[in-house]
Formats: sequence, structure tokens, C-alpha cells
Amino acid sequence: MSNRELVVLGTASQAPTRRRNHNGYFLRWDADGLLFDPGEGTQRQMVFADVTASQITRICVTHFHGDHCLGLPGVLQRMSLDRVAHMVEAHYPAESQEVFARLRHASLFHDTLALGERPVHRDGVVAEARAFRLEARALSHPVPTVGYRLVEPDGRRMLPDELAARGVTGSDIGRLQRAGRLSVGGQLVTLDQVSEPRRGQRFAFVMDTGLCDAAFELADGADMLVCESTFADADAGLARDYGHLTAGQAGRIAAESDARLLVLTHISQRYESRPAQQLLDDAAAAFGGQIVLAADLDRIAVPKRARRR
Ligand SMILES: [Zn+2]
Repeated sequence: MSNRELVVLGTASQAPTRRRNHNGYFLRWDADGLLFDPGEGTQRQMVFADVTASQITRICVTHFHGDHCLGLPGVLQRMSLDRVAHMVEAHYPAESQEVFARLRHASLFHDTLALGERPVHRDGVVAEARAFRLEARALSHPVPTVGYRLVEPDGRRMLPDELAARGVTGSDIGRLQRAGRLSVGGQLVTLDQVSEPRRGQRFAFVMDTGLCDAAFELADGADMLVCESTFADADAGLARDYGHLTAGQAGRIAAESDARLLVLTHISQRYESRPAQQLLDDAAAAFGGQIVLAADLDRIAVPKRARRR
């Protein structure tokens, strides 16, 4: 089991179907659990996917159209019911503070959750966690909408052969990592000699938007890009009218942003009875990397680190 993976809870846009629940995405990132856009039914989908309320450490809502947020009351209530003791932070567009407040108190229950409300006021860093930095950018949709990305800081990968050749072992390795240099048997060893740059992993979440610069900025260098592809390219007119992306445009964002794995989701019900293969084909025409058309309850591992980019 990977310690960084996307658990897909729902993949439907606007109206759920027999096969697709409304949106919902749980990103496991080491000890953190980020719940994105909990649409209606998310609490039950979590049960099917073996995701517990206590695994959620952060909630990110892109916007307050129902398919992205009507699951919030149920999830928050469940977190109180399960006596989640840790602090949970919630991010969402600041312009919609009032809608968040209504959902937060949509029903009557014994509320014990320590929820930190962190409305997003502007583009940029919205949270610094131990294993990542969370950033947001305004997207292009008829209502206030933000996309998110997680950026792990760059680090260094230790090279066992180089360590052994210089006689660095045991607790000396940690000492060298902290100090950057160490004297071993009268010889100075520097961190550069025994390690190489390790690029931090990136995850991007681009929901409900027309094509815009922010979508490309969020996707920049993403190891995993989760992108809405509400329509096939043949329905590009509809995508334009409603402020959405086609699968081909999602592919273009992935290609031009040098993303590695593209996860297509937020699928219109019009493709329920037609082969969804068309969406994959449209995206693949623009993007040569790996593409997954998300299905409910899929678990998709964040790709292993690239050695070089
Ligand atoms: Zn939507």
C-alpha cells in the first residue's frame, strides 16, 4: 500500500448516476488526509472505501455548487460523532463564507469538532504542513472557485554506495544530514558528496473551470493532476457555455504543464450510457503521459518519484 494515494469517492458532475456518486476525493499523503469537494453521499462512499472520519485532517472545497459540497454537513457531523480529537482545517473561497456557515450548521447535532475555518482570500500559499505546502489559485467558473495544489519541498536523496565508500554509518548519517558536513576518520565529508537532489512530489486539483492560466499554474510539474473533464471534445460548446473543460483541454493542461499522471473526473451524466472511452481518447490526443478515467472507489497511487525531470 502506497503512503500517498488518491481514494476516489465520487466522480459525477451535477447529477449522480447509477455508477457515479457526486464528487469526493480523499488524498492520503503520509500522515495527512485531505478531503476534497465532498459531494452528496460522501459519508457513505467513505464507508465503502474504508476511509474513516478520523483520517481526515484537512478539507478543501473548490466552490459551493452542490455537487462539490452537499456532503459537507454529513461528513462534519460524522467527525463529531466519531469524536475526532485533532484539529481539522477547512479551506474554501472566502466570498462564499456564508454558504460554508450554512452547511457547517445545516443540522442539529452535538458539535465537538475543532474545525479551523481558513477561507481563501487570494492566490498563494494557504497552509504550511510538515510534508507539504498547500497553495490555491482562483479558477474561471460562474461562481467563486479555487483550485489547489500540494507541493512537497525539494530534498536530498542519500546515496548508500557513496556513504559506505566514505565510511559514514549509523547515527553519523543523521548528523551529516543536519550539519551538511562531517569529519569521519580525519576526512571531511559533505552532504553533496553522498546525496543527490530529490524533487518534492506535487499533487494538483483542478475542478470546475474553463481554460485559464491558473489551471496551468496549478498543474505545473504535477506528479498527479486530478482534472475535471465534464465533456468530450465534441461537446466543446457546452463546456464553454457552462465554464467547464473538455477531456481534450484537460489533456492540454497536463501536456503543457509537464504533468505525469492525469486523472480525469467530474463526468457528465450524458456519458453514462455512451462509451467513456471517448473521454480518454480526447485527452490522449493532447497528452502522451499516463491517463486514468476515474471510477468511484478507485485507489490511485501517486506515481513514484521521478529520478530526473
Ligand atoms: Zn461541479
